[in-house]
Amino acid sequence: MKIPYALPYIDDQEIAELISTLKSNWLSRGPKTAEFESKFADYVDSEYAVGLNSCTAGLHLAQLALGIGPGDEVITTPYTFVATANTILHTGAKPVFCDIDPITMNIDHTKLEKHITANTKAIIPVHFAGLPCEMDTIMDMAKSNNFKVIEDAAHAVYTRYKKEPIGCIGDMTCFSFYTTKNLATGEGGMVTTKDEELADRLRVMSLHGMDRNAWNRYTEKGSWFYEVIYPGYKYNMTDIQAALGLVQLTKLEEMQSLRNKYSEMYQKAFSNQELITTPFDSSEHTHAWHLYVLRIDFEKLFITRSEFIEILKDKGIGTSVHFIPVPKHPYYKKLGYSIEDYPNASKAYEEAVSIPLYPSLSEEQVNYIIEMILTTVNNSKR
Ligand SMILES: *Cc1c(COP(=O)(O)O)cnc(C)c1O
Repeated sequence: MKIPYALPYIDDQEIAELISTLKSNWLSRGPKTAEFESKFADYVDSEYAVGLNSCTAGLHLAQLALGIGPGDEVITTPYTFVATANTILHTGAKPVFCDIDPITMNIDHTKLEKHITANTKAIIPVHFAGLPCEMDTIMDMAKSNNFKVIEDAAHAVYTRYKKEPIGCIGDMTCFSFYTTKNLATGEGGMVTTKDEELADRLRVMSLHGMDRNAWNRYTEKGSWFYEVIYPGYKYNMTDIQAALGLVQLTKLEEMQSLRNKYSEMYQKAFSNQELITTPFDSSEHTHAWHLYVLRIDFEKLFITRSEFIEILKDKGIGTSVHFIPVPKHPYYKKLGYSIEDYPNASKAYEEAVSIPLYPSLSEEQVNYIIEMILTTVNNSKR
């Protein structure tokens, strides 16, 4: 059996939509992008959505839209994809890492307080694997300390905090539609917000800083007129991406029900294994099951994590590791960060193995993965 770590879920619907978009001659930002933005905003119960070429672009622009820059501090988790922290550096601000909760693997909201200073301008919580962070506490803390909340929701299309969809809670929420994400457009991202002024700013900044209102004001002079009010970026979404996104959005319930089914099979199979910790879930929230991250106590095995991954690879099973904590990367070490300051992230990293979880898996494949993992762990006990 050959089971890749991740696969998109594309069928004739996306192909047909893509062909019709190509035939429409709108290849860049156009009507499909506007339609996808509007449908996505509705889907997450937000007011505005700005389509971008990635979540990374969204995280960058969200901070810039708040005026974050040199001298400012932005709090985030060390246990994330490095893009979250890189975008803080791009603005000139300083990333401040708050260690994770060892159970949820999300930023530990009980430790946030001690990281807040007079320079704190924002927090970027990351809903790891699709499990929501403690948003009530985070929003309260932001309000009482006068900083903003930008959510990294790269894993959290479909996630609900209590009954609320992720995308309508923080000041801005950044989604990713990268190939492996729950809703995929190849590359792509979206920022949702309820603040019209922030949405306008994001839109202008995403397209060279060209002011749409100037265009409206001077339409009688012709559609060629624009005014640049900011040295903006080229971060816009294209209609080719949006065409894929529109179809994927209609398939989301179906895709998620398959993720739910397979994650349940995993939870059942691994939950009473002595050396395995299964991902935390809570009936209070809706988990998007973007990732399925097992934690294995390799200290009680005579094989290392790398050897475990190689054994599974030989059996045809692709795996990954989420995440290499940001402070472990050489560039961040050079900036003075040390993984020793984040013991929970460090321990999670030593134990983590992400196993395949995506809609195009079959039950047979999931059962095979379960069997191979249980056999490998049980045959490797010290
Ligand atoms: C994938 C990912 C990103 C980046 O998304 P892109 O759309 O590829 O820019 C950011 N944060 C997290 C946690 C991610 O997993």
